[in-house]
Amino acid sequence: SNTEVLFGVEESLKELTQLADTAGLMVVGSTYQKLVSPNSRTYIGSGKVAEIKSAINALGVETVIFDDELSAGQLRNLEKAFGGEVRVCDRTALILDIFNQRAATHEAALQVALAQMEYQLPRLTKMWTHLERQAGGKVKGMGEKQIEVDKRILRTQIGVLKKELESVRKHRKQYRNQRLSVPVPVVSLVGYTNAGKSTLLNQLTGANVMAEDRLFATLDPTTRRVQTKNGKEFLLTDTVGFIQKLPTTVVAAFRATLEEISESSLLVHVVDISHPLAEQQINAVDKVLSELDVSSIPRLMVWNKVDKVSNPESIKLEAEKRDDVVCISALSGEGVNEFCNAVQEKLKDSMVWVEALIP
Ligand code: GDP
Repeated sequence: SNTEVLFGVEESLKELTQLADTAGLMVVGSTYQKLVSPNSRTYIGSGKVAEIKSAINALGVETVIFDDELSAGQLRNLEKAFGGEVRVCDRTALILDIFNQRAATHEAALQVALAQMEYQLPRLTKMWTHLERQAGGKVKGMGEKQIEVDKRILRTQIGVLKKELESVRKHRKQYRNQRLSVPVPVVSLVGYTNAGKSTLLNQLTGANVMAEDRLFATLDPTTRRVQTKNGKEFLLTDTVGFIQKLPTTVVAAFRATLEEISESSLLVHVVDISHPLAEQQINAVDKVLSELDVSSIPRLMVWNKVDKVSNPESIKLEAEKRDDVVCISALSGEGVNEFCNAVQEKLKDSMVWVEALIP
């Protein structure tokens, strides 16, 4: 009945679709249901379970992702209801999957692994009691013993990870100084998921650019080498995007995946200016950036998707009035040259600083 709430659900599902896409999954459909409160056994009602099950069969679905955190019991019951082959996961698990794929530094990888284990810990219990129940109570106590063993193993691993993280953090500064000795500036794209960061990355560089480039062949797939018309170059790197409903349990992991940006020469904040919540998204990104150690790094803001707004002229006027804002359409390529020029302008200052550090 409340259209605002409905809008929220649809926006959130759109974002979930985008996240699944980022994780390398192909989304074939989405659905939602309005309930007073989630079903304690299956999150959704039995009619909805049946509806999804027939879609699974019709479309050959392999994974069903829920846009909320599911309890261990709900995960298990849903998996059973959908049939053994189907993987059921929730938003948190999907986000952790993405962080895992995108963790570019050792520290980030450790932080993500830690979050994954902490996510698993409370979900172990029910899995084993389930097995026990399945065995008809014949092995009473077996499940419980197994839970204790598994939990102990997991806790030990968590402890080991935490220690390792501590020591990696201690040595971080050392690493950074080594990486700064590469005389090619690194430009990091930050912003909300769906803002158009990867579209911009692709617009600027052909995907095959790195093919026979040995120096940069070891870069992760989210970094590209951009050569501007006057022969200058910089590395453009995409970061894991911000997410509206970031579960608190994964905030530390998210920040760790972002920490690599403290090594960049310039931060480019990409905004979907056509988004109704653009301003709130900008503030949220700024807030997280202010908590990272990046205040000394120059910034450039990009208002993307100007082709999609109803009032492009006034948006462009507004951008012109402000320093450090460039309007573009990453999709059509409009404004991309201006963007490159602005990047180079910004880099001029920071390059002096980077070169000064090279012995
Ligand atoms: P990312 O999550 O920040 O990497 O966002 P993507 O680059 O994946 O873009 C998210 C969606 O926005 C995709 O469907 C793009 O096609 C679309 N998009 C990106 N840039 C533009 C743009 O300038 N104009 C329009 N209309 N759509 C865009």
